[in-house]
Amino acid sequence: MPLNLADDITSIKGVGPKTAASFAKAGVNTVKDLLYYLPRTYENFQETTSLKDVRPGRVVVKGKISDLHVTRTRRRNLTVTEGVIYDATDAIRVVWFNQPYRAKQFEADKEYYFSGSYDFNHGHYQLTSPAARLVKDVERSASSGFRPIYRSKGSLKSDQIEKIIQSIRGEFAFISDLLPISEEVPDFVKSSSRSEAFFRVHFAEGPEDARLGREYLAYEELFGLTLAANLNKIDQSKLKSISLPFNQKSTSSLVKNLPFPLTGAQKRATWEILQDLEKSTPMNRLLQGDVGSGKTVVAALAAHQAVHSGAQVALLAPTAILATQHAESFSELLAPFGVKIALLIGSTKHKDTLKRRIRDGEVDIVIGTHALITDDTGFKNLGLCIIDEQHRFGVSQRQKLLTKAPSVDLAPHLLTMSATPIPRSLQLSIFGDLDVSILNELPKGRQPITTKILSDLQMTDMLYPEVRRFLETGQQVYWICRSIEGKNSTSVKQMAEHLKPIFPRKNIEYLHGRMKPEEKDAIMADFASGKIDILVSTTVVEVGVNVPNANLMVIMDSENYGLAQIHQLRGRVGRGTCPAFCYLITSGDSEPTKRLKELEKSTDGFHLAEVDLKTRGPGEIYGSLQHGALNLNIASLTDINLITKASRQAKSFARILHDDKNVREKYPELIDSIRKYQQLTTLN
Ligand code: ADP
Ligand code: MG
Repeated sequence: MPLNLADDITSIKGVGPKTAASFAKAGVNTVKDLLYYLPRTYENFQETTSLKDVRPGRVVVKGKISDLHVTRTRRRNLTVTEGVIYDATDAIRVVWFNQPYRAKQFEADKEYYFSGSYDFNHGHYQLTSPAARLVKDVERSASSGFRPIYRSKGSLKSDQIEKIIQSIRGEFAFISDLLPISEEVPDFVKSSSRSEAFFRVHFAEGPEDARLGREYLAYEELFGLTLAANLNKIDQSKLKSISLPFNQKSTSSLVKNLPFPLTGAQKRATWEILQDLEKSTPMNRLLQGDVGSGKTVVAALAAHQAVHSGAQVALLAPTAILATQHAESFSELLAPFGVKIALLIGSTKHKDTLKRRIRDGEVDIVIGTHALITDDTGFKNLGLCIIDEQHRFGVSQRQKLLTKAPSVDLAPHLLTMSATPIPRSLQLSIFGDLDVSILNELPKGRQPITTKILSDLQMTDMLYPEVRRFLETGQQVYWICRSIEGKNSTSVKQMAEHLKPIFPRKNIEYLHGRMKPEEKDAIMADFASGKIDILVSTTVVEVGVNVPNANLMVIMDSENYGLAQIHQLRGRVGRGTCPAFCYLITSGDSEPTKRLKELEKSTDGFHLAEVDLKTRGPGEIYGSLQHGALNLNIASLTDINLITKASRQAKSFARILHDDKNVREKYPELIDSIRKYQQLTTLN
């Protein structure tokens, strides 16, 4: 009787309630879960290094052990087991921390494998806390010196998990494929099978085996993710929306009236958006462009086309400061054409009256914060939603805005804007090939930003004199700190106090997100008009704020931010005609990380987003994916090569599933496995 993947794990002989309970803690409940509980790594005793050739790094050596003894450190109360490993060629020092049983584990005349890290530590080179195995045991076992190591869970150790999986080895042959076969399937998948992939991963005979098995399973996982995204995309394309036709005359009179010529990139992006708006299926487009690339005017042109066609527009911004600035820019650009614009933020007076006017269609464009998406805000004819800095909003908030359409079967067009580029790999995998317009060209005359990393120990000697010189030119400074109040000197209040005696004749104020909106607005207004010289602030100034005379920024504790976020922050400077400077302050005297150094080298938002994705995961780039919701098991979201292949197959298979409902029944496991992804990857 072959094992069924859906069966409870206790159906495996030798797995009792206690083991099952430990497995459950690791999220392993069924046979299938167990198969996907892949080895964390492998112990490799196939290739050992002679002791005379050992170099720093991960090593596997074979030898006998002598001089074992245990000491206890006084300071941290650690037990330290030390010894000497020797072979015919040489001897090295070995140390285990807090593993006192090691002192009794070894017999003096027996040979062992040791695998671990050989490094310079506590004043000498040593092998630190290696795994050890009796050579005779390894030679006797079936694992041929290459052996999986599973993540242990409570009392459930790798050895036992290995044994359990070994016990169903015979069943592996009956595991059926998950992937549909089609022309787009890459060769390495075609010539293998899921059964073989699991076999290779769990019973690998060498590193190459393990790699091939994982690659197959990673492809399978990415196929599921991209399939879900593509199915969502098809579903969305079935929605109807109001067509908002392009009007040559009104658009060109607006463009002629702009205070500057559009960049080529702005023209291209605008044209793509205006064409989308004409369609009677909803647009779902991301306008992506570095800070200062001029997204607002593109959005205004889109809004104008919608209003000209009789529809209303909602623009959602993450902060009151930003919403207010947008309302000002939109009014400047569009009010001369008779467009009625309203601002709806927390502090707006007479909200009820305003909401009635919105409902009655007396307002054409409503610009606001979360106040805009409360249940009691209704529209007469909402045709276009624009979301600025879309990663600041969760899926549910976006959905809420979209439900404000005139009727359930009419979806508004959606334009999202972001200065944080979404790397191509995420566009493909999470959004099923999202429609993107890119502003890859800054308006003429933008000033370069020079970025420099300094330790906080260098502030007095290097930073303050620089800032002082800079302030003498009559320009202004942003000083970014993490917290509002706190014991450390990095809260905005304390930093402001700290700076006052250092720059005595300068006006220093602070700003943070928990201040009353009126206070915030007053401070921002004073900064914009030049009354404030140094604005000490939290990241509330991150998005959108535009003060061309402020061209120096200091960012405290910079190692705690994502690169994309720092990139956005420093985009606040360099908006005028003068060169700009950004100082990234790190704490203490440790070397700045490689990650942070990227900011000194690059002002390319795309590149920085890629680095973030590799080092910090997708949540950093795309806010609503936080909390590890999309932590893939096997695949990496940065593997553009594999994602491209999987996405190609997923795209065509999504079509097949959509066109022939009966096909679903042939792939129950696949359909079931992508359900979770489908909820996560929906953009509306
Ligand atoms: P972001 O893409 O960061 O939202 P904004 O839309 O706020 O950028 O534009 C930044 C500044 O550049 C604004 O002051 C805007 O008026 C100006 N701007 C936009 N487009 C152009 C252009 N084509 N030429 C010159 N200035 C422009
Ligand atoms: Mg903007």
